[in-house]
Amino acid sequence: MRLSKLLAHGCAALSLALAAPAFADTTVIHAGHIVRDAGASYDGPATITVTDGRIVSIADGIQPAPAGAKTIDLGDKTVLPGLIDLHVHLTGDPGGDFWKETVEPDEWGVVIGVKNALATVRAGFTTVREAGSAQHTAFARRRGTAEGVIPGPRIIAAGPPLAIVGGHGDVSGFRPEINEILSSGYSCTGPVECAEKVRRASQNGADTIKITATGGVLSQQGRGLEAHFSDAEMKSIADTAHSLGLKVMAHAHGARGIEAAAKAGIDSIEHGTYLDEAAAKAMVANNTVLVPTLMAFQGVTERLGKGIYTPVVEDKIRAVAETARVFMGRARKWGVKIAFGTDAGVFAHGRNAGEFRLMMGQGMTSREALASATTVAAEVLEMQNEIGRLAPGYSADMIAVDGNPLDDATILENVGWVMVRGKTVE
Ligand SMILES: [Zn+2]
Repeated sequence: MRLSKLLAHGCAALSLALAAPAFADTTVIHAGHIVRDAGASYDGPATITVTDGRIVSIADGIQPAPAGAKTIDLGDKTVLPGLIDLHVHLTGDPGGDFWKETVEPDEWGVVIGVKNALATVRAGFTTVREAGSAQHTAFARRRGTAEGVIPGPRIIAAGPPLAIVGGHGDVSGFRPEINEILSSGYSCTGPVECAEKVRRASQNGADTIKITATGGVLSQQGRGLEAHFSDAEMKSIADTAHSLGLKVMAHAHGARGIEAAAKAGIDSIEHGTYLDEAAAKAMVANNTVLVPTLMAFQGVTERLGKGIYTPVVEDKIRAVAETARVFMGRARKWGVKIAFGTDAGVFAHGRNAGEFRLMMGQGMTSREALASATTVAAEVLEMQNEIGRLAPGYSADMIAVDGNPLDDATILENVGWVMVRGKTVE
């Protein structure tokens, strides 16, 4: 029953609950220093009061806690907003054995994902966007962390990505009848079928639509890294998603594929490896965000030559390694908006904050890098009134570190304390 209806009927139990704040669960946090958001100053000490999962006040100095409230004393530590990773795959650990897909059921992905959700939140990431998984694995974990059944970050999930038949994101490398069985059912051909698959994804619980706009590095397909979907297909996907209130995140490496995706109205480019000036211009003109996933390139490069990847994949990794060291810096100079995302799963979950060092290595300041993982990422999720800063009314998602992250964002690799939705992560 809706709340308004309950009130209209004068539900006694409910009005009692509303009038009895004594039941509220209040925690008071004493912080040595505070960074309210990436655009603010390094202040402190401060007292943050959290009630029922939300920040209700932030006061200067160390203030006494009200009777009945829990107190958390963080000593000299700096409290700042919880971090956001816009590109993770909690379902998987790094590996190269693509055939495992034939022997491991989706349920195993849930088990692995529960482990990785904890590793991710302990590393300070209180919100993640799941950039592609089997149909139910990410959605089950999304509910698990939301209801407090399992520890982990808030999860925004795409579910299975849309791909061209046999392209990156679909299945390839097996006998035809095996490819058929393993297909997620989300490959599509032509604007009409692609629109249908967007609607199907929405029907089945997607928070966002993921597509693989170009070829990819870690799949067995060896058809290059340029655009795989046609312009008409990408436009159909973007328009259909937007009509349903959903954004589209597109895996894209090749420059012309990036340019085409931006012009089609895709909201974010994931990876963006071969981005050139024309592609950057199209992104700026269409307000397309770049999610560079530099840790993914780092992760796969570390694993080269060890017999982990097949020859077709090794060739593709070698081809992108050089560009991966510079493309984000170029995009930044061309004025492309950059938001934080790592592709965790391609490297070990929990190392997500290593991305800050790599972003700064390509010219970002500490303040910009922190913004990319807080305020900017929150905007990409259209959750800028809920997460990404510390202010009254916001979800109590926060972390603590030693030192000032505005001076050196790499200290975020060592997060000492994490709270998600008002609950301390153990
Ligand atoms: Zn990915």
